[in-house]
Amino acid sequence: MQLLRHGLVHGLAKRIRTPASSRNTHSASADVYDVVVIGGGHAGTEASAAAARMGSRTLLLTHKLETIGEMSCNPSFGGIGKGHLMREVDALDGVCARCCDVSGVHYKVLNRRRGPAVWGPRAQIDRQLYKKAVQQELNSTPNLEIRAAAVDNILIEDEHETQGRRCAGVLLANGEVVHSRSVVLTTGTFLRAHINIGLEVRPAGRIGDAPAKALGEAIDRLGFRMGRLKTGTPPRIARSSVDFSKLQRHEGDDHPMPFSFLNSDVWIPAKDQLPCYLTYTTSKVSDIVRNNLHVNRHVTEEITGPRYCPSIESKILRFGAKVHQVWLEPEGLDSPLVYPQGISCTLPFEQQVELVHAIQGLEKAEVVQPGYGVEYDFIDPRELYPTLETKRVPGLFFAGQINGTTGYEEAAAQGIIAGANAAGKTRHADGKQLTISRTEGYIGVLIDDLTSLGTNEPYRMFTSRAEFRLSLRPDNADMRLTQKGYEFGLVSPHRYQHFQQTEERLGSAIKSLRQLRKHTHYWRQALDLPKAKASVEKTAFDMLGIPADNITINQLIQLHPSELSWLSGDRNLAERLKIEALYSFFVEEQQRDVEDVRREERLSIPSDIDYFSKSLSLSNEERQKLTLIQPQTIAAASRIQGVTPSTIVRLMKYVKKAEVAKA
Ligand code: FAD
Repeated sequence: MQLLRHGLVHGLAKRIRTPASSRNTHSASADVYDVVVIGGGHAGTEASAAAARMGSRTLLLTHKLETIGEMSCNPSFGGIGKGHLMREVDALDGVCARCCDVSGVHYKVLNRRRGPAVWGPRAQIDRQLYKKAVQQELNSTPNLEIRAAAVDNILIEDEHETQGRRCAGVLLANGEVVHSRSVVLTTGTFLRAHINIGLEVRPAGRIGDAPAKALGEAIDRLGFRMGRLKTGTPPRIARSSVDFSKLQRHEGDDHPMPFSFLNSDVWIPAKDQLPCYLTYTTSKVSDIVRNNLHVNRHVTEEITGPRYCPSIESKILRFGAKVHQVWLEPEGLDSPLVYPQGISCTLPFEQQVELVHAIQGLEKAEVVQPGYGVEYDFIDPRELYPTLETKRVPGLFFAGQINGTTGYEEAAAQGIIAGANAAGKTRHADGKQLTISRTEGYIGVLIDDLTSLGTNEPYRMFTSRAEFRLSLRPDNADMRLTQKGYEFGLVSPHRYQHFQQTEERLGSAIKSLRQLRKHTHYWRQALDLPKAKASVEKTAFDMLGIPADNITINQLIQLHPSELSWLSGDRNLAERLKIEALYSFFVEEQQRDVEDVRREERLSIPSDIDYFSKSLSLSNEERQKLTLIQPQTIAAASRIQGVTPSTIVRLMKYVKKAEVAKA
């Protein structure tokens, strides 16, 4: 009660408000922390590690020590857009990528057939190994204390009336007060949550964990705009009961790509990776879903669920009796379970078993844990600044699923920014803050979308949300963010040194390639390529970047060993050089498009525009939203969530062409 007494005894215009119900029962620890983080999920682990890395005295409070780093749903990290976020978190010296690199059991870069800018580094993860790695990492982080405790309330300090209130710590469920200069709330799906299985409703934040009811009410009382969202998870199946002979086996990549820039390899040899298996739903699955809607409370609730990771029920209701893919993913090296990705469901347990048995290869499957849905409170993220500090209560930050997102990577990305800024409040006397812009990273896109547009459905990252995706690539996240993170105090000297070496080597390599300047006739003849009509001067770097010719760095080394032999034998460098060369032209072109859109923001969209026109080639979601909202200008269209930046460029060109045709 030190601070509390301080305020009263000295009669300062500073009061700490605690809830009336616990006013006479609480005790206080003598400590004042710089940062308290509530929640040991993916946002909380990044936030607490980030704050501690910055030298702030940090306390992580979470319900159970054993669930720190728990993957509540899918046993995988990364994917399209999400892989970008992970690489960016890693570039800022975060925890999740390194922990994945010691627990991944099946690595696969998604979208390989498309350009490297939209590749999606992804891996199946051994849940237990991941959790162990995160816990070890946090336990050995200097300046970080960890305690198992439930937080019931936020302490508010009233300063001079003109200055308003600020966050001063938290109140635990056991009545103890913990003082802190900043608080980061990362309570995921727990606020006033309950889970649904069939018609059964249980108060829980996820299966086996109590919800955060008192804390949800406290946030509500503080006046934050809140909403309700839902999500779900599939049943878990005993591996020994699956007939794998009927399923399509899929191997991981031959050369697994690590998530972390600090690693040149992953821990598991390619030959020891575990396979995934593909199977499909049948019409019987559809019948089971449709015939049991009356006993499926979660589906009929008027709350929005995840559009991009829908339950089997919503897929069937939306797309009819179509056959849907089901991926059987390993839960870990020694786990007796498999995770059937694609059949998240909330039917009563008996009907879930029936549904599983209607899938090929799962006819005799043993369902070990039912699928379930969870409904929870989230806070309107427009309540936040881009630092993730709340506008309403200075010193209080929110990060992760509490802000309306879904996914481990989205949570981790917010966690690291919130943790850094919470620590920055005490570390940077000049008020310096860490924000990432849309031009610097997917983290910037995520936070800008949330804080400026808000969300009414669980938000997940996609490459299509980024205007600058040709330059915001997974391969160059370190070049975009590590320097900035280091200058803020978030990146450790070890990471920074590693980054500087990479930067120097990459820079020298590009310089060497650019210094080799010859005529096209020379290059094409020497590289055994068809003759070009005209001969112009091109550098070795230009040649490396011509997509149709697909020249490798090794070919160039062989051709000019005296200048380039120092590049040989470094697979990572060779890959980065190739990608840099491929994109150098397109990045400039993209910049021109972006400037065009900026110039034409006020261009009016005619009210009779046909959003079904083939030349606009819109997705169904975009058609639906544009038709419904009828934006009047290009600027208004660009603010509609789900309408991609490339669509805006097409829309702008379409409207201008139509104007010219009319004139
Ligand atoms: P969490 O990982 O949920 O962590 C919250 C932490 O806060 C927990 O450790 C909890 O114990 C702690 N906590 C909560 N309240 C308190 C309190 N008062 N005091 C102390 N500690 C507290 N993601 C997808 O991408 N796709 C999906 O399909 C998907 N389905 C999901 C289905 C279910 C049923 C659930 C539960 C989650 C699902 N997720 C899915 C979401 C994914 O698990 C989350 O996005 C991610 O874990 C969010 O991270 P977080 O750090 O915000 O919260």
